[in-house]
Amino acid sequence: MKKTSFLLLSFLLICFSLIAQQSAKDKEASQIHTKPKLVVGIVVDQMRHDYLNRFWDRYGDDGFKRMISNGYIMKNAHYNYVPTYTAPGHSSVYTGTSPRFHGIISNNWYDKTIDESVYCAGDDEVHPIGTDSDAGKMSPHRLLATTVTDQNRIATQFRGKTIGVALKDRGAIMPAGHSANGAYWFRGKDEGNFITSSYYMDELPAWAKKFNDSRKIDEYLKTWETLYPIDTYVESGEDLNDFEQGFKGKKTATFPYDIKKLSKETGKYDLIYSTPFGNNITTDFALAAIDGEELGQDDVTDFLTVSYSSPDYIGHNFGVNSKEVQDNYLRLDQDIARLLKELDKKVGEGNYTVFLTADHAAVNVPSYLKSKNVKAGYFSSGDLRKELDSLVEKKFGDAKLIANMSNRQIFFNYDLLEEKDIKAQELAETLQHFLVNYPKVAQAYTRSGIESSSYTGLIANKVKNGFNPKRSGDVVYELEPALISYSSKGSTHGSAYRYDTHIPMIFFGQGINNGQSTKEAEIIDIAPTISALLGIAFPNASYGKVLSEVID
Ligand code: ZN
Ligand code: ZN
Ligand code: ZN
Repeated sequence: MKKTSFLLLSFLLICFSLIAQQSAKDKEASQIHTKPKLVVGIVVDQMRHDYLNRFWDRYGDDGFKRMISNGYIMKNAHYNYVPTYTAPGHSSVYTGTSPRFHGIISNNWYDKTIDESVYCAGDDEVHPIGTDSDAGKMSPHRLLATTVTDQNRIATQFRGKTIGVALKDRGAIMPAGHSANGAYWFRGKDEGNFITSSYYMDELPAWAKKFNDSRKIDEYLKTWETLYPIDTYVESGEDLNDFEQGFKGKKTATFPYDIKKLSKETGKYDLIYSTPFGNNITTDFALAAIDGEELGQDDVTDFLTVSYSSPDYIGHNFGVNSKEVQDNYLRLDQDIARLLKELDKKVGEGNYTVFLTADHAAVNVPSYLKSKNVKAGYFSSGDLRKELDSLVEKKFGDAKLIANMSNRQIFFNYDLLEEKDIKAQELAETLQHFLVNYPKVAQAYTRSGIESSSYTGLIANKVKNGFNPKRSGDVVYELEPALISYSSKGSTHGSAYRYDTHIPMIFFGQGINNGQSTKEAEIIDIAPTISALLGIAFPNASYGKVLSEVID
């Protein structure tokens, strides 16, 4: 009996010590990487970094300020390529690479293999879900690289979910990657619904149908007034000025805007895109997705990508310095606060990780800058095209040698070059020489020059990083600073200059250190940093660095 007790006791002791050893090992292993239940990636379309500083005193405690005070901000983060447009921007954030490798060289580009302009997400092989319109014929099929969201799916045996949400299709599709469970975007016109495509599913899930059926969207067809008294908006210019487009159906671009009334002039729900209410409905839908898909409810990491599209429409319409832009950001701050509070409730504070950035920034309205004697202006690419065609005709005897000119790239007609026995390099050098001597053009590069990497400098590196050998043109040019091909009212983006490249980069939540840095960071650093945090394989073409100050 005694012997039996002794043996039993010994056995139990051995068991306990084995369990203790194992749990120590588990603890050690769990310290190698962090596993948030949910990662939320936020892209604010057209957000400049300086909006954080400019409106700092006006933000509440629970939005941008909460993320920055408790998380980590890279204050000197930039795009490392041109052109700085929406689809390449979203793709680069999530793939950790630039158009050179992910292939999304613009929103629309000339596809030389079919002699047609294509849309980044357009896909005739899929059909629309939740709408009958072509707005649903979209997929990520042109994206050549994997995203951090793809890598999380692969690493979790496809147990960790990915859901993408935005008003713009490309703002939902590129972040969600190839293997998403769903990407949802907004259909305006007379519909006012979140839709998707057969690339992802055969019908909308019940929660998304319920959301659309609730007609929550109708509550946002209301008057847009400033959140606080307009005379306190001292961080922006006069409401009435010569530099804003405004809305069809209203004489002046001034508050208040009766959106319900104006929506009759502009395809009913289409006006939602151009107001801060577009951010509200995006947040509403993102929260519905968290509930509907049970994101962040178990120990397998899920990924939610949210892109706020409305700031871009508002910036294009009213310009960087407008009261409308200021009001958009003060209201967006409240959307961010609401999203974080709901994440605290639904996933638990400390159980999720968030990053926030932008797909590009924007230029201050050149006509406004000019009115203050700051060098700026406008450029007609149509005029340039005419001059290039006549130059080519004079030198080579055929004006049709240029097949297309778009996104500051010139594409040659190779069939015609061969037929006429003209060397592409000769044509390229002729155009380059003409372009660098052309008023308002800063630089011009030939395909062979870009590919042989003989260029360096602020613009040239960005041209190279944005140049995809298969998809890009044969000559690329960039304008002088603060020159745009756009209306004299409102802001745009697309250049290699600081006003277009400097974007917010904030990390917050589980596994994120507290602090700030002015060290230069690149947009391609986000995906490797999040991959390292999760302990998963990096996106396959990523070449950004892990921001080691942000995570341990
Ligand atoms: Zn954009
Ligand atoms: Zn105004
Ligand atoms: Zn834009």
